[in-house]
Amino acid sequence: MNNKQDLKSYTLTELRKIFEENGIKPFRANQVFEWIHNKNINIIEDISVLSKKLKSRIDNKYYIENIKILERYDSKLDGTKKYLFCLNDGNIIESVLMPYRHGNTACISTQVGCKMGCKFCASTKEGLIRNLSAGEIVDQIYKIQADQKIKVNNIVLMGSGEPLDNYDNVIKFLKIVHDELGINLGYRHITLSTCGLVPKIYDLANEELPITLSISLHATTDIQRKNIMPIANKYSLDEIIKACKYYINKTNRRITFEYTLINGVNDNKKDALKMYSLIKGMLCHVNLIPLNNIKEVEYKKSNNINIKGFADTLCQKGISTTVRREMGSDINAACGQLRNKYISQNQG
Ligand code: SF4
Repeated sequence: MNNKQDLKSYTLTELRKIFEENGIKPFRANQVFEWIHNKNINIIEDISVLSKKLKSRIDNKYYIENIKILERYDSKLDGTKKYLFCLNDGNIIESVLMPYRHGNTACISTQVGCKMGCKFCASTKEGLIRNLSAGEIVDQIYKIQADQKIKVNNIVLMGSGEPLDNYDNVIKFLKIVHDELGINLGYRHITLSTCGLVPKIYDLANEELPITLSISLHATTDIQRKNIMPIANKYSLDEIIKACKYYINKTNRRITFEYTLINGVNDNKKDALKMYSLIKGMLCHVNLIPLNNIKEVEYKKSNNINIKGFADTLCQKGISTTVRREMGSDINAACGQLRNKYISQNQG
């Protein structure tokens, strides 16, 4: 884009400041923001409230991010839709739309690839390629809404990438989707999932944005966690739990612990009891995820007896627990799988 800056990546406050510095009245920033984020405009020329002269001034320095839908896969089982998007530089990312009874939930990506190396995840196989800009993150929502002619009611940052490893752009994204001139989504309808970057959990708590924080725990001892999540070599479970308590105190929001049940690795009753002793007394919820059997990883899904046993143990101890329903199992909806498949089929 010839060194032009992306208007879609600015929060309203940033846009007003930039316009002011360029001698453009701040109310123009409100108009531009609204046309981009509410009216879904992708070309400066199309912002018809601006004069021709002003459009050309803005166009000299700026552009509007506009990712493209490459493919869409529709699940015949449950209405889940999986999108592959092509970015301006040819990189590919994926997002998922899940129609639930309580509204449309979009699961979106924050990075191309991921460097965290979780052993059960297909997104990390090639490492981190690059961070997504705030405009690229938010545009996944706009493209899904326009394609399906729906409003997205809930957003989960749980696609490819570790959101807290792309901290600044993710914070901008949160402010953009929450803005009332944009899609005006309440913070309570947004969930950010992290593998546990402890210092960034403190930073996020200090932002005092009441989003739901979701921790990918997946193990109940440091040794077990180190086997499946390299980040555990950097931060212990105790440090993560301490940071979560700080987050709860700051935001008064309930934390979700995500726990992928892996056959024979972390799914027996002892593991459930250890989990209980880690999180007891906290304002929290446990979401158990039966692992998707995917070819990129060596692990297998737990059997139904272990899944039920794990959930029952926690429930009996008074921990709010749910087992995540498998969505889109006929369309490779596990994080990173479709992108890998597309790239390997289209290589060379
Ligand atoms: S699970 Fe999340 S943090 Fe871990 S490798 Fe996959 S995308 Fe990265």
